[in-house]
Amino acid sequence: MTRISLRDGDWPDPPASPEAAPFVAAAREGRFLLRRCTACGKAHWYPRALCPFCFGETAWEEASGEGTVYSYTVLTREDPPRAIAYVTLAEGPTMLTSLVDCEAEQIAVGQAVRLVFVTSKNGTPVPCFRPAGAGDPSGAEPAP
Ligand SMILES: [Zn+2]
Repeated sequence: MTRISLRDGDWPDPPASPEAAPFVAAAREGRFLLRRCTACGKAHWYPRALCPFCFGETAWEEASGEGTVYSYTVLTREDPPRAIAYVTLAEGPTMLTSLVDCEAEQIAVGQAVRLVFVTSKNGTPVPCFRPAGAGDPSGAEPAP
């Protein structure tokens, strides 16, 4: 088994930007924000002031934090090993992120995952995902 750890407090610091400030502030409260277009209604990632589909105005909304693995790769030569993935959010957008707090052998395309915020070296929240059910107080396990 290849353990993919949480590495909380050990992630690279994301670039600070005025546009990201509301996202970071909400993330510190454990809330995961997306932006959705007020014209065409599509959500997107990463957050942008103008819609990448139609250039309409966008607004923040709180996302569910639920998604599925679209694609992934495990970097076994890194120390500790890491898992990079595209996760498709329940709201529609697919985001490049990391899977954490699981065994590499446990990851699969189509796997249900749930958001977990880890922190970078300077304490900034970083959105990552882990298999749905892991660390979930409801005890729900992902479907086989
Ligand atoms: Zn739009």
